[in-house]
Amino acid sequence: MQLLNHFHHFFLNFNQIVSLKIPVLLLSLLFGTVVQSAEVLLVDGSEAGLRMKGNFTILYDPEKKLTLNEVIAFQEGGEFVALDSNGSTGLQPGAVWSHFKLKNTLSSPITLHLEYVDHQLIELEVFQRKNVADSEFSQIADFSLLNSFDERPIPHNRFVFEITLLPSEQASYYVKFSSDDKGYVFPDLRVWSPSSLRNAQAAEYSVSAFLFGGLLIMSAISLIGGIATNEKFFYAYSAYSLSKIAAWATILGYTHNFLITDGFHWSYMSMTGAVSIFCAVLFARIFLQTKQFIPKTDILLKIMMANTLFLFVTGFFQLTSLAVISITIALLLYPVLGFAGLLRWYQGSKEAALFAFAWSFLVIGLFVQALRDLGLVEHNFFYYYWPTVGSYTEMIVIMAAMGVKIRGLRRQKEEVEHKYTNQLERSKAELEVLVTERTHELERAKFKAELEARTDSLTGTRNRRSFFADSEKILETTKSKDITFSLLMFDIDNFKDINDTYGHSVGDEALRHFASAISNKIRDKDIFGRIGGEEFSLLLCGNGVEAVNMADRLREDISELKIETPKGQLQFTTSVGVAHLTNETMIEELINLADKALYEAKENGRNQVVECNSNIA
Ligand code: GH3
Ligand code: MG
Ligand code: MG
Repeated sequence: MQLLNHFHHFFLNFNQIVSLKIPVLLLSLLFGTVVQSAEVLLVDGSEAGLRMKGNFTILYDPEKKLTLNEVIAFQEGGEFVALDSNGSTGLQPGAVWSHFKLKNTLSSPITLHLEYVDHQLIELEVFQRKNVADSEFSQIADFSLLNSFDERPIPHNRFVFEITLLPSEQASYYVKFSSDDKGYVFPDLRVWSPSSLRNAQAAEYSVSAFLFGGLLIMSAISLIGGIATNEKFFYAYSAYSLSKIAAWATILGYTHNFLITDGFHWSYMSMTGAVSIFCAVLFARIFLQTKQFIPKTDILLKIMMANTLFLFVTGFFQLTSLAVISITIALLLYPVLGFAGLLRWYQGSKEAALFAFAWSFLVIGLFVQALRDLGLVEHNFFYYYWPTVGSYTEMIVIMAAMGVKIRGLRRQKEEVEHKYTNQLERSKAELEVLVTERTHELERAKFKAELEARTDSLTGTRNRRSFFADSEKILETTKSKDITFSLLMFDIDNFKDINDTYGHSVGDEALRHFASAISNKIRDKDIFGRIGGEEFSLLLCGNGVEAVNMADRLREDISELKIETPKGQLQFTTSVGVAHLTNETMIEELINLADKALYEAKENGRNQVVECNSNIA
């Protein structure tokens, strides 16, 4: 309900903001309007963020035990002094009292909203005395961060209270700023007309909505990035972004404003801050791969993470002093992350440079906050929002760094793929060459083996098996055609005697001479082979008479061969049996017939051709 009201409020005022005075408003928001020291601050109800700084005098109450009357006595005794810093008391224990006076310059009543300038304060009490003559002060506001948000008279993420001044009325005020233990106090108020405060608030809420919306979108985008790429750092960044929303919304008072309106505790700031730093370090460790590349720095980062857990626990149990120590350690260790980024950059990681750059935005933001807390720079909207904007800028730059990293990863992947493909292609080519070589080798071996299987090793002519195979093949292919064949069967005469007389090796030599003599005389299409020890066959295609003539010519050629041996010149003869084939005869039958004719030739006295004329076909 609360939330809806505020949005309603925001939209009601939005038109007014746009049409009216954005430039004026923004300028006054950023730098405030500081009125220089005057006894009484004159107001007319048109104030828009008027700073009271110069009109404040303050008194420290470190033990937080002074009563209002004692404080008044101190003030009247001249113990109140002007603030000597640029807006902050610094880290102080207890309470700070301030005193100021307002006077309505109009002749009509006015209502003003007075706003405390910072969100860190834990308690604020306001006492008012409406009339100089009337000596009684009465409490008109009593704020505590622990109270329900609904108790605030003006709903605002910072403490705002309302006063009214009658025509020309002057009022005197005491404001007590106090922290639980120790805290930073910016003893100052801004004076607003109710409408100008609403406008300023709407402007501020819209800027915050822009920042938080941006963080939410970055979180969502990186979640999608994580799902798409399966890169862990995207998930870490998504969590980091969300934790930033939680931390800044809590620190700036929006969580109390909209979410935990009842039962809010300032320790939630420590706890959400702890979670945010934890996520930041976790993200950095994954993103920069610190464990792998800068292990020593990684130890420091682990310590940082452990400290954030400690901070969370101290927040949870509201152990203020320990929490302050832990926060101090956390802040002191902040630059380590930037250092880690620089180291990784030095090692050659481009995205690490961007990370270091981004991180420095945050560190500078926190540095500005520290300066502001210490009262070294002024507390105005510009310095008030610098840490938040610095933190936001950090997130945007890191987003870019993640882009750079993804690009790098993709390039790496492509290089690896390229290398792999090249390697694969090289291996493939090598393999192909190897396979081709091996295939050729095998083909050669096969050819050789086949040749050997077909060839008679002594004479180089066909062996028996090959002679029959080739003869059958040729007879088969020419079966239908009207082609005649003749088979010549040779048997060297008295070969046993040659062996006996000249020796076995001369016998072999004679066989070789015989074979080559015949081979040289025949045509390619004729089939010649050694079918037994000193028996050879020749299948001639063609006319039978020519075959017989051929047989006789060959027989004569053989008889004319002369072989020189140690035991003198060797000459030998051969007998030839001839058989003719027309059709349907198998090679075996033909051989038998030729064999018979050969036998006859031997019987008839050798060295002659006998033609078998018996009933073939
Ligand atoms: P013919 O045929 O005239 O009746 O008399 P032959 O002496 O030739 O008789 P036969 O056919 O019985 O003898 C063949 C001989 O051939 C027997 C064997 O020792 C010899 N011989 C067989 N193969 C080889 C061989 O590869 N090398 C040599 N040197 N001799 C062989
Ligand atoms: Mg024989
Ligand atoms: Mg013989």
